[in-house]
Parts: sequence; C-alpha cells; structure tokens
Amino acid sequence: MQDPTASSRIAGFHKLGIPQRIDAVARFAGLDDADRQHLADTGNLPADLAGHLIENVIGTMNIPVGVATNMKIDGRDRLIPMATEESSVVAAVCNAARQCYENGGFTTSMSGTQMIAQIQLAGVPDPEHARIRILERREEIRALCDGCDPVLVRLGGGFRDLEVRVLGTRGGAMVITHLVVDTRDAMGANAVNTMAETLAPHIAAWTGGQTNLRILSNLADRRLARARCVWRLQDLGGAEVRDAMLAAYHFADADPYRAATHNKGIMNGISAVVLATGNDTRAVEAGAHAYAARGGRYASLTAWEVTHGGDLAGVIELPMAVGLIGGATKLHPTARLALRILGVASAEELARVIAAVGLAQNFSALKALATTGIQKGHMALHAHNIAMMAGATGDEIEPLARRLVALGTVRIDVAQAELAVLRG
Ligand code: NAD
Repeated sequence: MQDPTASSRIAGFHKLGIPQRIDAVARFAGLDDADRQHLADTGNLPADLAGHLIENVIGTMNIPVGVATNMKIDGRDRLIPMATEESSVVAAVCNAARQCYENGGFTTSMSGTQMIAQIQLAGVPDPEHARIRILERREEIRALCDGCDPVLVRLGGGFRDLEVRVLGTRGGAMVITHLVVDTRDAMGANAVNTMAETLAPHIAAWTGGQTNLRILSNLADRRLARARCVWRLQDLGGAEVRDAMLAAYHFADADPYRAATHNKGIMNGISAVVLATGNDTRAVEAGAHAYAARGGRYASLTAWEVTHGGDLAGVIELPMAVGLIGGATKLHPTARLALRILGVASAEELARVIAAVGLAQNFSALKALATTGIQKGHMALHAHNIAMMAGATGDEIEPLARRLVALGTVRIDVAQAELAVLRG
C-alpha cells in the first residue's frame, strides 16, 4: 500500500544506481519483492544502456514487435517491423498490402532530407531592415553552420538555405530566421540545434536585437515522404466498397473531428515503424499533424481518387524526420535489428517505407469502417485482451476469446462469467 504522505522529494535520486532507485520507488509506492524483481528485469535492453538513454531509469517497458508481410515498395519486397501495443495495426498493413501486391504495390518518393532550425529575434525597432541585413549574410551563415558539423558536411550534408520572416505576434514584430540544413541520415535535431545556438549571438550583433529561442521546427516540410498506390477494383472488393471508402475519405477531408481519427489511424502504422526503428515518434507525429493543418484547417494526410479504369488510387504526403543515426537508432539493439530486417540503406529509404505503411494503414481503416465496421476485425484480438483481463491464463485464453466472439459480446463481465463456466 502506498503511503499518501510519502515525499516525492528524493534527494540525489538521479545519482543512484538502478537497484537503489528501485528501492526508493518501492518504499514510496509500497511495492513488494515481486514488483522489484519485475522492474529489475530489463529484458533485451541492457539496464546500463537504458540508463544512458534517459534519466532516473528504474526499468524498461516491453512493447510487442510484429512484422507486416506482403509489402512491395518500389518493386522490392520488404518485411516491416512494427512496435505497437494496439491490436489490428499490424494486420491492417498486411491486409492492405496483400490487396495491392499483384498490382505492383507502393511507389514512393521524397522531397529531400532537409530540416529547419528557427532563431527568434525580438526587440528590433526596424524588423524589415533587420531581415534584409540577415539575408545579406548568407555566406557567412553558411560557413558558421557548416563549421559546427564537419562530419555532416563530409557526408554531403550541411547548410542549404536561409529564410527570414517578419512575424507579427501579440508581443510585437519578431524576426524569425530559418536555417535549412541537409541532415542526411540523421533525424538532425541535435545537428541543427547546435547550428542555431551558434548563429544566434551573431544575429543579435548584426541587428541590435535579442535572440531568444534557437530550436528546430518539427514541421519538417522540406523532408516530405510520399507514397502512392492503386488498388484494383477486383482486389479491393468491387465498386460498392470503393465508393464507400471514397465517401469516408471525403468526410475526413472535410471535417476535423473525423480527420483527427482518420490521421490517428495512419499514425498507428507510422508511429509503430518509427518506434521499432528507435526514432522519435513525437517528432514525426508533431510534423504530421502540423502538416495536416497547413491549409488553415486540419484535414486528411491522404487523398483518394478513382482512376480512368475505375480503380482506387491513394496517396500520402507528410513530413518524415527519421534517421539511421543519432538518438536511440544506433544504440537500441532491437532498433538496430529492425533496421536490418527492413534492409534500408538510408534515412530517405526508411522515410519512404514508412509513408507506404501509413497509406496501407489508411486503406485498411477506410475499408473496414466503410464496410463491416472496425469492431469486427478488432474483436478477435480485443477478445484475447478481455479474456486475459478476466483472469484467463495459458490454455484458457484462446477458447474463452473464441467464445466471446461467438457470443458477440466481448465484455469483461461476460468474460468472467464464461471463464467460470469454462473452469467448471
Ligand atoms: P545526433 O546528434 O546524435 O547525430 C547526428 C550527427 O551524427 C550529425 O550531426 C553528424 O555529425 C553525425 N553523423 C554521422 N554519420 C552521419 C550520417 N550518415 N548522416 C548524418 N549525420 C551523421 O542525432 P540527431 O539526429 O541530430 O538528433 C536526433 C535526436 O534528437 C533524437 O533522439 C530526438 O529525439 C532528439 N531531439 C528532438 C527534438 C525535437 O524533435 N524537437 C529536439 C531535441 C532533440
């Protein structure tokens, strides 16, 4: 039992070793020996590595990794590792990919691998003048940025472009400088943040203003991943299904309430691959949702049309700031394995694969929603979860889940009653 008066002010907690931290948390939360042992078992992520990735580590959190089959992308078959706790996500990608495999699968492309860092400048009386003065320094800025990261420059990356805007804000006019940097196979946050921090005092000196924030933008619209695919009428189940799917897309694109859920489904697939490869799910999600609202109204990340031949054509386009280097990508052993299973040779290739997964996910969600409804497909897997929540273990889970599906009522109370029957 937890003592409600226990203090969360634990001096030097960050300096403790993992076993000592577990002790401290166990005292605070009233954990027993079995709980401590559970936390101490870090599975296939070594505890010392976990302790280097984040602060105050007391354990790890296992998430299932599934593999999506049937994916053909740019003429090459791929197996896609996906880390997710949500049922039906992996199956959705497999199903969508199976239905377009014979027609050639997915075609992908990318706008580039450029990230944007922002520098905020305030307190200048002549913001338009300041803007031009900064733009005049383009070559000096290039040298300063490239000087921060000779490794990146050697690999063909580095400073690419300079944009300066005068932004009207509640606090008056601000001058916002964008550094556009090719970060190659890195997601690039640290790379561009260092450049922005290096450049900021120079901007302040050139303009006589004060620089404030110096940080990348997650609206990585210079790093757009694109995928397209055509599902033949005979493969997807006929004109009625196609038209219902189109109507579902039209709804999503017109209504932010629906678009949020439509795009959440897309991100079910995307975030699962981003996580499996040790990339930053929040960075990709922030970019995706900001991009979905770029027209001033939140809308669909995909678009669906009917081809001349009557088939269903889908496209997706969204920022995809993922890397093969940096963050946890190279450190997390499971992420490294996921990248090997994927067989991608560059961050661009990874981003393109992820876009195809997002499109596949959206196809399956639209089809399920527009035909049988999402619950039918979900039910079998959901029933397993409910069976386990009701207390079923080992050999009890499968028959109980099947019984719940057969009854058409996948509910915890029903599961408990049926489990009692099963146990005689
Ligand atoms: P990083 O700084 O660890 O590695 C990138 C560096 O590796 C490059 O600057 C370069 O010097 C070197 N490098 C070696 N080989 C390379 C290659 N083939 N291509 C490119 N660079 C190569 O990593 P990063 O990508 O700059 O940072 C990513 C991390 O930053 C993620 O963990 C992310 O979560 C975190 N982060 C994100 C945000 C955000 O999204 N807002 C903000 C801060 C930090």
